[in-house]
Amino acid sequence: MALEKIKYDAEHCQRCSTCKWSHLWEIKSHRFSRNCPSLVYGNYDAYAAQGKNDIVTGLLAGELNWEEHKDTLLEVIYRCPVCAACDTNCKRIMDLDIIGVIEALREEACEKGYGPLPAHKEFITSINQYDNVWKQPRTRRANWAKKMDIKDLSKKGETAEVLYYVGCTYAYKPGFDTVPKATAKILKEAGVDFGIFGAKEICCGGISDNVGDVKSFKEIAEKNLKMFKDAGVKKIITNCPGCFMTFSEKYARLQKIDTADLPYTAMHSTQFIEELINDGKLKFKKNVNKQVTWHDPCHLGRRGEPYKHWEGKRTEYGLFDPPREMNRGVNGVYEAPRNILKAIPGVKLVEMERIKDYSWCCGSGGGAKSAYPDFALSTSKERIEEAEATGAGTIITSCPWCEANLSDGIDGSGSKMQIGDILDLVMESLDLKD
Ligand code: SF4
Ligand code: SF4
Repeated sequence: MALEKIKYDAEHCQRCSTCKWSHLWEIKSHRFSRNCPSLVYGNYDAYAAQGKNDIVTGLLAGELNWEEHKDTLLEVIYRCPVCAACDTNCKRIMDLDIIGVIEALREEACEKGYGPLPAHKEFITSINQYDNVWKQPRTRRANWAKKMDIKDLSKKGETAEVLYYVGCTYAYKPGFDTVPKATAKILKEAGVDFGIFGAKEICCGGISDNVGDVKSFKEIAEKNLKMFKDAGVKKIITNCPGCFMTFSEKYARLQKIDTADLPYTAMHSTQFIEELINDGKLKFKKNVNKQVTWHDPCHLGRRGEPYKHWEGKRTEYGLFDPPREMNRGVNGVYEAPRNILKAIPGVKLVEMERIKDYSWCCGSGGGAKSAYPDFALSTSKERIEEAEATGAGTIITSCPWCEANLSDGIDGSGSKMQIGDILDLVMESLDLKD
């Protein structure tokens, strides 16, 4: 039973509400002091982490049952972008594994045959049939790369130092192929020896794990791990924070090893580009006179930390036996994109009130946008309001899910803000734009 794994955590919730707010010393205004999008939208404790803990204890004690409350339980469990703000905030005081609680609830829903939701099943069926989440033919996966003369590492004998993994959304979503095209041009400009898997690339499987379909996730992960092994991949870079986190954290967790012990290193493109800048391999040429604000994608930030495997038990006062180094959300990828923005001449970075480990989610993750679009929109509108308050004209991010949902937030709130990917600015300053 999935819930047994996190029994300690759920039972030791103090109902202190720390998971719902930015910490007092971080709050800059009442308007932007909240941290849990699920609670803000649902306006009822069950949607917050402490409510989810109560649901676990209720289910384990037999005081709550799925059969009677299935619809309500599914809504509470899935109307949440798994942004981990609650997990990070709770760990500042209680060291409870709240993301583990949410994931276990989703796994339990799937084990019972109630989850995932119909909108999620569409994604999973699409992955099974087409190897991508967008129901697109495999043959179109590398259309963006036509005439770009990029190595195809899925071909026998072809090798490169770096695998550039594109991901389903950048490969297929209309209007998003500018990002892989820009990435390839930037890597070439820096002289990086890289290749792609072309039409053979398949989904990372992160979405399956996010919605609790562990079986589907394992199958996809095993296929990818074999492809990486067969191609001798030592370094993977990807633009999508979901893919980055999946290769770095989820594949390590699945194999019960540390991220550091994976046979490859997975990097987000902002980390890799920051290195290229620091090594003098990319030199900015043009001024980009823009005032921008940076939106931290949750899968890059709070959820982007390397995984450290631990097996053991919690003893008196919650001590870990053997000792455990926990992920706390503070060691995610926060500085690389900011350092890139600061290095581009002319760009002025102005920060929102909730940033880094306190960042407000865009609202799209964990299957929330496909199943609950109104919730996702409402969450993104709050982020746009926060971005507007900085005075910046443009919100910059580096995630296809955040970009699409924040773009909807701009439209939905009638904002005049612009939105863009960080690589747009890099390309402009490198003078690589067509
Ligand atoms: S911060 Fe942790 S202990 Fe406090 S209510 Fe939230 S989940 Fe429970
Ligand atoms: S993951 Fe995010 S939205 Fe879900 S309960 Fe935690 S803070 Fe709220």
